[in-house]
Order: sequence, then structure tokens, then C-alpha cells
Amino acid sequence: MENEPMIIGMTVGGNDPIASLEKVESLDIATCQMYVPPEEWWVKDRLELIKKTMQEKGIRITTLVCHFEGEEWDNIATIKRTVGLLNRATREKRVKKILSSSDFARNLRVKVLQTHIGFIPLERNDPDYQGLVKVLQRIVDYCKKNNQTFTLETGQEEAQTLAIFIEDVNRPNLGVNFDPANMLLYDAGNPIEALDILGKHVIGVHCKDGKRPTKKGELGKEYPLGEGDVDIRRFIDKLKEIGYTGPLTIEREIAGEKQIRDILKAKELLEKLR
Ligand code: MG
Repeated sequence: MENEPMIIGMTVGGNDPIASLEKVESLDIATCQMYVPPEEWWVKDRLELIKKTMQEKGIRITTLVCHFEGEEWDNIATIKRTVGLLNRATREKRVKKILSSSDFARNLRVKVLQTHIGFIPLERNDPDYQGLVKVLQRIVDYCKKNNQTFTLETGQEEAQTLAIFIEDVNRPNLGVNFDPANMLLYDAGNPIEALDILGKHVIGVHCKDGKRPTKKGELGKEYPLGEGDVDIRRFIDKLKEIGYTGPLTIEREIAGEKQIRDILKAKELLEKLR
């Protein structure tokens, strides 16, 4: 069952990996993408505890998601300044964090490492564009040594920009985690059409829904799966059309009881559509 096509998953936090795995189990879900746990979890006995818990519960961590101190997601301007690898003041420190997270993922036998790298500049001759290509080559080559794929979460730029960037980095173990809702939240094109452009690079997906922003400079709004403007039925059909067989990872970026209810509804919906 663990290797069935389009197996359902969910995203979970990494602060307490054991509690996160228990949450996944309680929803009867078999895979998850987990945020990289804090470094106190990187020591041998704690690492073994995570592995043992995964095994006992029959849950696979498909992807570890890198995130950074100081990231703020309030609006487009703060995202540009604080998220990912665009800001030169924090770039090197964050690259090092990704490389060490890759080692942690290897020890946990996780094959995919992922992050939002931030807004990719539109112009190829922009020094930040060139800088990003270079650091991505370094990161992706490091992941290759650990037998991993590195994925970029979609949505902060249009599919064509991302496709050109991936060509310029030019490494076979670089792919995308396709989040259709982000394309609406950041008003970055049509998510279904984007799959025609990015299809061959899709390693993972987030099953998330949303609507476009109503004011420039703001973000759109996330909705429960099936209630936004992604058109989840067409999204899943399109994934089948491009031959995608990886996990369908539900992402619902709220907390509490409502999150649990929405995830269970999303799971029911995906079980019908996949
Ligand atoms: Mg996402």
C-alpha cells in the first residue's frame, strides 16, 4: 500500500516529529511531508526514535521541507525580503542550513528535500538570478551525493519563469513540488495550464485550494480543498494526464479542529478523484 500510485499524504510540522507522526496516524493517512525538525532532533537516539515510530506506524516521510528563521509571509513585499534564498544577507547561512538538512534527511532515509527559494527574478541577467542559479547548483549537487532530489515549491512566479530557471540550473535531480493554490494566492497564472509547462519536473504536489487576491501587493486567500478556484477535479485529472504517480499531499495552513475537519474532507474528496 505504501507504494501505491497517488497515495494520500499531508504536511506536518517538525517541532515534535513524534507528535506529528501520531497526528498523521490518527487521520489514517500513510505519508507526510514534514518540516525539518530543530537540531536537537538530529542526534542519534532521537533520530532512531523517529525512524522507529515511522516503522511502527507504517508512515513514510516522503519529503523534508526546509524553512528558515526570519521568514515572514504577510504580503508580497515581506516575502520578497525575508523568504528563501533571494536576500543576499541571509543566503549563505541558509544554504548551509539546507546542506546540513540534506544530511539529516539522508540519515532518516528521506529522498526529497524541498523549499520555497523565494521570488525568482524575471531577468536572466539580474545578478540575483545568476546568484540563485549558482547556489541551487551547489545545493542540488550536494543532494545528489546524498541520493536525493531537491524540489522547489511552485507558485511565487509563473510556470514559464520557473521552467527557464530549472533549465538554467540544469541538474536532473532538481524538480518541483507543485502547489496549485499558490499560483492563485500569488496571482501567478493558471495552475492547470502550468502543469503543461512544468509537468516533467513534478516530483511532489500539495493538494491545497485558494482564490486570487483582490488587491495588488496582497496575497489571495486559502480555502478548504474543493472550495477555492483551483478546480481540484481538473487538477487530479491533469496529474493523471501527465503521468504523475507520486503522493497527493494535503496542505491546510490553519491550526486546530477546523484544520483536522478540512483535512479529513480533503482526504475523502481525493479518494474519490484519484
Ligand atoms: Mg504548499
